[in-house]
Amino acid sequence: MSFPLVSSPGDPLSKTGLLQDSFGRTHNNLRISVTDRCNLRCEYCMPEEVEFLDHRELLTFEEISEVAQVAVGLGINKIRLTGGEPLLRRDLPVLVKFLTGIPQITDLSLTTNGLLLKNQVKKLKEAGLRRLTISLDTLDPGRFRQLCKRDGLDQVLQGIEAALQEGFEKIKLNTVCIKGINDQDIVPLAEYARSRKIELRFIEYMPIGANPWERNKVLFAHEILEILETQVAKLFPGAAYDPTAPAMEFTYQDGQGSIGIIASISRPFCQHCNRVRLTAEGKFRNCLFALEEVDLKPLIRPDFQPEEIRKAMISSVEGKWEGHEINTARFIKPGRTMHTIGG
Ligand code: SAM
Ligand code: SF4
Repeated sequence: MSFPLVSSPGDPLSKTGLLQDSFGRTHNNLRISVTDRCNLRCEYCMPEEVEFLDHRELLTFEEISEVAQVAVGLGINKIRLTGGEPLLRRDLPVLVKFLTGIPQITDLSLTTNGLLLKNQVKKLKEAGLRRLTISLDTLDPGRFRQLCKRDGLDQVLQGIEAALQEGFEKIKLNTVCIKGINDQDIVPLAEYARSRKIELRFIEYMPIGANPWERNKVLFAHEILEILETQVAKLFPGAAYDPTAPAMEFTYQDGQGSIGIIASISRPFCQHCNRVRLTAEGKFRNCLFALEEVDLKPLIRPDFQPEEIRKAMISSVEGKWEGHEINTARFIKPGRTMHTIGG
């Protein structure tokens, strides 16, 4: 890993030396999926029966780190590790250590369902991980099983407590809200997070899972806010409120905590999108909903070709579309479901 390939202004491939698209959006945020496997089957994310990738198809930690180095040379400074369930990937702290060793990466985080967190949290922290997002859609064991198709709520809660004790810089909870399924969980989850000083982020349900998506099942941001304001406490835009950020941040008026809402459907943030993605088997995607992707694997194996990877990333981002168009008749659901892309 000895090639910080930094492109410079005037570079014929990238005028700015950054991953900039034709709409002027600069991309500094890379989401890396480390596996397509999962120990849950959340119904909004993946099907019950899946053929997983062969282990040999997954990028190795060395390969991921080398690709990350190339991306860093193009201005990436934020990385999120995700999956499938990233904690199923053996020795994940080794990758965390590689990535925290890249000085330009100022923000490394991990999204997990928390099932295996309790036993791994210490090693992750020791490897340098400072920020964690744990997905939790309900505090009710029955609804957990209904949504995730497996048991495991207790393990997730134990994982959260272990992470709190470990003293991470930032712990967030992610909750996907589905009308008629877990709207009744919004208030208990809000109280749970507030009592632990954890930021809770609600995510509008997106058409990226295995099941047919229904718009009328989306619990919209304004509905979530209304539930919280009438049943928990008044909210106002937080000090860090940034209308261009994916998550709208709100603070409780009583000073006890904050929430975020990722309103991908009712308030798409495509206009300000700064994200690109690398799948577990090495496909580079310029959008969660992209219909096309670039296969970096032939540029990684048998020989690592940093300059070709760099060109592939630049040209993929240059070709990025304006937005996902979920709210139009033009929307086409990608062939991949969320667990094979990385959320
Ligand atoms: N397995 C890990 C987890 O669940 O946190 C990481 C991968 S998961 C794909 C990343 C995030 O995507 C989770 O917070 C999950 O709730 C979210 N997600 C999955 N399918 C979604 C959908 N259809 N709409 C909105 N968010 C979704
Ligand atoms: Fe697995 Fe995460 Fe998808 Fe649930 S949301 S099935 S935990 S990858």
